[in-house]
Amino acid sequence: MNKLELSEATLITPSGRIDRERHGWRAKCLQRLVRMDLPVPRSFAICCNTVRLIAQGRSIGCEVLQDILSGSGLVSVRPSAVMPEWGGPGTVLNVGINDALHKTLVDRIGQANADAVYLSFVQSYAIHIARLDPDMFTQDGPDALAQALRSYHDEMDAPFPQDPAEQLSQVLRSMARAWDGPTARLLRQAKGAPADAPLGLVVQEMALALGPGLCGSGSIQFIDPVTGTPRVTGRFRGQHHGRAIGEGAETLYLTKDDRGPALEDTAPDLFATLCEFGAACRKRLREEMQIEFVVTGGQISVIDAVRVARGSRAGVRIAVSLARDGIIPHDEALMRVEPRALADLLHHQVDPRAPRDQIARGIDASPGAATGNLVFSATAAQAANARGDACILVRRETGPEDIRGMHASVAVLTERGGTTSHAAVIARGLGLPCIVGANGIVIDARNRTLRAGDRVLKEGDVITIDGSSGEVLAGSAVLLPPALDDAFTQLMDWAAQAGGLKVRANADTPEDAKTARRFQAQGIGLCRTEHMFFDADRLPAMREMIFADTPEDRRLSLDRILPMQRKDFSSLFEIMAGLPVTIRLFDPPLHEFLPHEREGMRELAESLDLPLSDVIRRVEALTEFNPMLGMRGVRLGITVPEIYDMQARAIFEATVDASRKGDPVVPEIMIPLVSAMREVELVKTRIDAVAAAVRNERRVDFTYRLGVMVETPRAALRAGDIAAHSAFLSFGTNDLTQMTYGLSRDDAGRFMGTYVGQGVYAEDPFHVLDEDGVGELILTGVQRARRQSPGITISVCGEHGGNPESIAFCHDAGVDYVSCSPFRVPVARLAAAQSAIRSRKTRESH
Ligand code: PEP
Ligand code: MG
Repeated sequence: MNKLELSEATLITPSGRIDRERHGWRAKCLQRLVRMDLPVPRSFAICCNTVRLIAQGRSIGCEVLQDILSGSGLVSVRPSAVMPEWGGPGTVLNVGINDALHKTLVDRIGQANADAVYLSFVQSYAIHIARLDPDMFTQDGPDALAQALRSYHDEMDAPFPQDPAEQLSQVLRSMARAWDGPTARLLRQAKGAPADAPLGLVVQEMALALGPGLCGSGSIQFIDPVTGTPRVTGRFRGQHHGRAIGEGAETLYLTKDDRGPALEDTAPDLFATLCEFGAACRKRLREEMQIEFVVTGGQISVIDAVRVARGSRAGVRIAVSLARDGIIPHDEALMRVEPRALADLLHHQVDPRAPRDQIARGIDASPGAATGNLVFSATAAQAANARGDACILVRRETGPEDIRGMHASVAVLTERGGTTSHAAVIARGLGLPCIVGANGIVIDARNRTLRAGDRVLKEGDVITIDGSSGEVLAGSAVLLPPALDDAFTQLMDWAAQAGGLKVRANADTPEDAKTARRFQAQGIGLCRTEHMFFDADRLPAMREMIFADTPEDRRLSLDRILPMQRKDFSSLFEIMAGLPVTIRLFDPPLHEFLPHEREGMRELAESLDLPLSDVIRRVEALTEFNPMLGMRGVRLGITVPEIYDMQARAIFEATVDASRKGDPVVPEIMIPLVSAMREVELVKTRIDAVAAAVRNERRVDFTYRLGVMVETPRAALRAGDIAAHSAFLSFGTNDLTQMTYGLSRDDAGRFMGTYVGQGVYAEDPFHVLDEDGVGELILTGVQRARRQSPGITISVCGEHGGNPESIAFCHDAGVDYVSCSPFRVPVARLAAAQSAIRSRKTRESH
C-alpha cells in the first residue's frame, strides 16, 4: 500500500482551521461545541480530500494514527458529510482495543464490561471491515469473546489485529470506500446530495459509558419534534455502580413522569447540567439541538450534537421562538421556514409518527388530510352529509354537477386529472384535501367499488386521503389538527414587514373571500365568474342561458342572472372592504356546463320544459372536438356580447351600491383568453358603453380598470399592443402552460408521472412554472408591455401563483403581484418575503 504521509487529521480546537466544506458538518459542529467549552472528548477531523485519497488506497501515516490513539487508546469513527441529511457510513466504536488494553479495562470497569467492549468491536470489525459472514459473529454468553476471536482467526488465517494503528487505518479505509459505493451514492442523491458529494470523518476518543459510579449514554432534546413546544425528550441507557451490561443496564426516562425512573430524579445535578448545555447550544448554535452524551462515573461528555429533526409545525414554532428570543433576526426566521410547509399548518395532517396503510398514490392536488366513508356520486355524498357522516367523494373526474357533492365531502379522490383539472382547482378553493390522477385505482361507479391493486373497497368503507403527500390510505389515520397559532401569525406578520411582491387570492365565493382576508390577501386577483354558477341552484340558470337559441330567450335568461351576479359582486366588494377585486368575465369551457349522460339531459329537458330530443340535439350542436381551445373566454364575449354586457352591468351596479355604503370601489374587469388586440378593443367599447349607461341611470360617477389575461402564447408575444388598451395584464399560466406545451390540463395527469419519472420534464409544468419556455413568454410579455406602458400592473394568477419556486421567478421578472387559491396565500406570502430578503441581501453584498 502506498503509505504517503497524509497529515490531514486536524485536532479540533477552538481556533483550528475547521470548515464545513472541507471537514463536513459534524467536525464543524464539534468545533463549535469545543468553543463553547462543553466537555467534548479529544476529536480529530479528517478532511474530505484525505478521505478521498484513502478511498483510492492511500493511508494516513502511522505517527499520525498513533498520535490520535495516544489518549485512552480507544476511539470512535463517525461520518461527517457536508450536510447532515446526506448521511454516511455507520459509526464504528471502540477502535483500538486489543488484548493488552482489554486487560487494563478489566481492572477499570470489570471483566464483563471489558469483555463486552472488546466483543462488540471484534464483531463489528469482522462484519464491516473484514467482511466476514455475520452469522459467525452472533456470540453471546461468558465465552463469547474467546469464541469471536477464534472465529476471526479461523476465517482469516491470522489472529485478530492487535496493532491499534492498523485497526484504525482499516476502519478509515472501509468507511471511505463505503461512501464511494453505488448504494451509498444513490441514497445520498435521494436526499439531495450531488453524486460526488465529499465525506469527512471524525475520530473521537471514546468516553466509556461503563464503569463505577453513574455511567451510561443518552440523547436529550428540549423541544417536541412535532409541535415545537418546549419539552425535554430523549433517553438515557444507564448502568449503575459497576454492574455488568445486562444486569444493571436500565433505560431511564429523562424527566419525571409515571412511565418509570427518571434521570431528573436519579441525578438532578447532572440533568440540570444537560439542560444548561441545551440552552447554551440553542443560543450559540442558534438552533434547537439534540445532544448526544455519555456519563462516566457521574461525569458528562458531550460526544455529538445534531439539529433536532422536526415536522413542519415544529419548524415554524422553533424559528419564531428563536427570533422572539433575539437569537436570530426576523428575516432569518422567515428564511428558515420552507414556504410549502405552511400548507401543513392550515389543514389537518396525518400524524407523521402514525403508521400508514397506503393503497394507492396520485397527484397531491390540494393539501390536508381527512378520513371518511367512500361514496361514488355527488348524491351519495349529499345523503351522507345529511346523515352527519364524513364522506370522501371518489369520481373518475369531476364536473359542475359534482360541486354540491364536493361541498358535502371531507375530501376528493379522482382517477383522472392533473393539478389544474376541475377537481383540483375546486378542492383547493374549498380547502378540501384532494388527490387527482390516481392511476392505480379502478372505479366501478355502477357497482360502487374501488379497486386498488388486489384490494377492493366498497361504498361506506373508510379511507383517508392525504392530499399533502398524494397517498390514499386504507382505514382511518391519526390526524393532527390545523395549527393557526400565535407562531404562525407572528411569522406572517414578519413576512408582511419583509415586503416583496403582493399576494392576492383567487376567490369566487364569499367564503373564499373571507378565507382570503383571514390570510391577509391583498385583494382578489381572480374571480372566476363562471364558477359562481357551479352551484346546483345556479346551474339551471346558466344552462338556460347557454341553451337559448334566440336573442329574446337569451335576454330573458340574462335578466334572471343579472341580480344574482350583482349580489355576488356586492358581497365580494363588501368583504374585501376597499381592497382591489379583479373580476374575470365569463370563461366557461361550455362543455363543463352541459350534462354528459342521458339522465342529466333528461333532467335538463324537464327543467327547460323541452323535449329530450331538442336537448340532445342542442348538446350535440354545442359539443366541440376541442372545447379547451373552442368557444371559450373572450370568443364567447365577442360572439354573444350580451353576456359580457350583463356582467359589466352587474359589476357597475354593485360598484355604485358598495361605494354608497363605504369607500369608493374601483372594480377591475378582466378579459379571458385574449389572443388579439382587436378582441380587447371590441370588448372595451361595449363595456365603456355599459359604464356610461349605468352612470347615467344612477347619476353617479365611478371608474373602473380594464385588464387582459395573457394566457395564449400570442397574447404574450403581442403584449405591447394589448397593453395599449389595458390598465393591467394578468398571466393565466394554467392555459399559457397548456398552450405552450400543447398539453391538456385535464389529461396530462395520465402520463405526467412517467414523464417526470424519466426526466422528460423536471417537474409537472402545471405545478412548477416552466421557466425556460413559459417563463420566456412571461419575460417577453412583461418587457413588451412595460415598454409600451411603463406603469402597467402585471400579475400572475394561474396556479403557479401559489408555488414557491414560481413566485421567486415572478419576483425576478418584476411581476407586481401573484394571485392563488386562498389556502395557498400564506405559502405565497412567505415565498414572496423570502424573494424580497434574497434580493436585498444580494444588493447589500454588491
Ligand atoms: C389560467 O389559465 O391560468 C387561469 C387562471 O384561468 P383558468 O384556470 O380559469 O383557466
Ligand atoms: Mg385560463
